[in-house]
Amino acid sequence: MRRRGPTIPEIAQAIGQKLTRPVRLMEVCGTHTVNIFRFGLRSLLPKELELVSGPGCPVCVTPTREIDFLVEVARLPQVILATFGDMLRVPGSQYSLKDLRAQGAAIKMVYSPLDTLELAEKTPDKYVVFAAVGFETTAPAVAVTVLEAQERGLKNLFFAVSHRTMPMALKTLLSSGEVHIDGLILPGHVSTIVGARTFEFVPQEFGLPAVVTGFEAHDIMQGIYMLIKQIAEGRAKLEIEYRKAVTWQGNLMGQQLMHRVFEPCDAWWRGLGLIPGSGLRLRPAYQALDAQAQLGVQIPEGEDPPGCRCGDILCARAKPIDCKLFGKACTPEHPKGPCMVSSEGTCAAWYAFYDEIA
Ligand code: SF4
Repeated sequence: MRRRGPTIPEIAQAIGQKLTRPVRLMEVCGTHTVNIFRFGLRSLLPKELELVSGPGCPVCVTPTREIDFLVEVARLPQVILATFGDMLRVPGSQYSLKDLRAQGAAIKMVYSPLDTLELAEKTPDKYVVFAAVGFETTAPAVAVTVLEAQERGLKNLFFAVSHRTMPMALKTLLSSGEVHIDGLILPGHVSTIVGARTFEFVPQEFGLPAVVTGFEAHDIMQGIYMLIKQIAEGRAKLEIEYRKAVTWQGNLMGQQLMHRVFEPCDAWWRGLGLIPGSGLRLRPAYQALDAQAQLGVQIPEGEDPPGCRCGDILCARAKPIDCKLFGKACTPEHPKGPCMVSSEGTCAAWYAFYDEIA
């Protein structure tokens, strides 16, 4: 059935007609980056419209020191480390979790944090540690798991919390003066939870147009059109394209769950450094489930992979082809940095769709 409204080629044409000068837009979310390539949207857009990626891939922004921490935890003989698949191949200073698993460490891939409840119940003689990595999108599900673990009285399930929240990272990036963009394609998934209102600061403090955008080809093209229209009309507003999922207030129950279990903390971001209030940690009432507090493993310093420019790519200071390792020493089969590992990684997307860019 034909979708109501303009087709994708019609939107592309409208974008071309509205564009009066070269424009640079940032897609904050890694899923947008990948889908723009997957749907071949770049080939439909005018050459004067440049798309750059932002710090919206959760695996990519997790710094090496936190990968090293998980490696140290997984080395403990009594521990089963549970993690999402993307984290397995991210290189640490010396090893990835996959390397460690090959050496015999007990590392299990899970599809949901809730899977760890059963794992802990089935292995009472082990400590199960869940690597809780992700943005506001995944934090509510982890919060539910924490509450359920407490409710069930599980004494062998712990959480290594590396959650990050998007607003402070974007503020830091936009305040840095290093990134020159004309508008933001804002993340649909995160906004589903936190609500579009969370990003009101983008036009208010930075004078930039911003559109919360969905993930289908039509959504992305429509979001880009809304941004180009604002730019052509000299406006800077926050608008929602992804109305089927995102409201101004967001998911209040998800927000309450996050607030009940987690509190803000300072967090390190790959490429952005230490950002005050940009992370989440367990509240004192849940310290008995905190892996770092209970297992006594310190977070090491961590060294980024030599030559890897993921930090610059996540902040739009460089493109994957600016990295000397891209497609040579670093490929999806032998990744040197997280941006080549993650399914949302910019380097992995450029590598997979290189013919389209070249
Ligand atoms: S190509 Fe590889 S080494 Fe270079 S920035 Fe990307 S992930 Fe890092």
